[in-house]
Amino acid sequence: MTLPELEADIVALGEKKFRAGQLYGWLHDKRVTDLEECSNLSKSFIEKLNEGYELKRLSIVRKLESKLDGTVKYLYEFPDGERCETVMMSYRHGNSLCISTQVGCKMGCSFCASTKAGFVRDLLPSEMLLQVYESERDSGRKVESLVLMGIGEPLDNYDNVMRFLELLSSPEGKNLSLRHVSLSTCGIVPRIRELADAKTGLTLSVSLHAPTDEKRDAIMPVNKLYNTAELIDACKYYFAQTGRRISFEFALIAGVNDDPQTAKELIKLLRPVSPCHVNLIPVNEIREREYRKSGKVREFQKMLTDNGINATVRRTLGADINAACGQLRRDSMRE
Ligand code: SAH
Repeated sequence: MTLPELEADIVALGEKKFRAGQLYGWLHDKRVTDLEECSNLSKSFIEKLNEGYELKRLSIVRKLESKLDGTVKYLYEFPDGERCETVMMSYRHGNSLCISTQVGCKMGCSFCASTKAGFVRDLLPSEMLLQVYESERDSGRKVESLVLMGIGEPLDNYDNVMRFLELLSSPEGKNLSLRHVSLSTCGIVPRIRELADAKTGLTLSVSLHAPTDEKRDAIMPVNKLYNTAELIDACKYYFAQTGRRISFEFALIAGVNDDPQTAKELIKLLRPVSPCHVNLIPVNEIREREYRKSGKVREFQKMLTDNGINATVRRTLGADINAACGQLRRDSMRE
């Protein structure tokens, strides 16, 4: 619940409105796990709350910590037994958390482990928020930036994601500026436009991975619904509305999308949305597909930068703990 919603409920319970603010602080700032800990709330009020409401928690099913770089990966379980992955990464400029937005995914990208077992359900705003709270509690690290790049397609769970962002940025709670949040999408065009109009200040990352309809159709089924021209138009609109540059993700797969011709096509596609940023990712090899990491990442990057397209290569973190893309959840399902 947002604070105004909580206030309405608290008043309906016959309590003073300011009690809602105190309770919100206990939940979202101090993050109690038992209402008995709320020392400035009366016993009778806590009883009333316990009758009508439930404090949810996530349980940690597995936790893997990288010996290489301190990355921590959590496999969390929700009360209904479903699981998701969350990854805490520490950079020189601070801690960044990658959270999941759905259990499974409908999008069917051919290189992605999150989608292989299909879609189960959307995550609730509270379930996204709890990934932040629980990861901070367990690791003792403060989340300074957040990426919505875990399991699921955030723009396919739009209303819950927007509500989560509202809670996350509330001054009485975690108070994280949405300028420190990146949302990654495979390209749900109408929702990109809606997000642009919402002017949240967050960074939009678009999973592109191929520069033409023919090549993108072959690895990302969503392209058949919203083609590259429509996608680039929506990206231009996002930039025009928000002033925020788009970041394009491009996972380089040997023999699939790492050749000079593809780089040329990419340059041509992105020119109209420049200034933008291309994040080149050596593809993570997953069990379900034969895809191999490209050995031509630096050449590909050079072609882009030589042609005025800003491109960086994403650093690999947590390589020793399978810290990417649904692999831990898949393993646990197999077991
Ligand atoms: N559904 C959203 C967010 C989740 S995926 C999206 O598609 O953007 C987060 C990022 O990881 C996306 O860019 C996705 O394309 C990428 N990704 C998925 N599988 C990958 C793999 N095997 N190697 C490298 N990147 C991968």
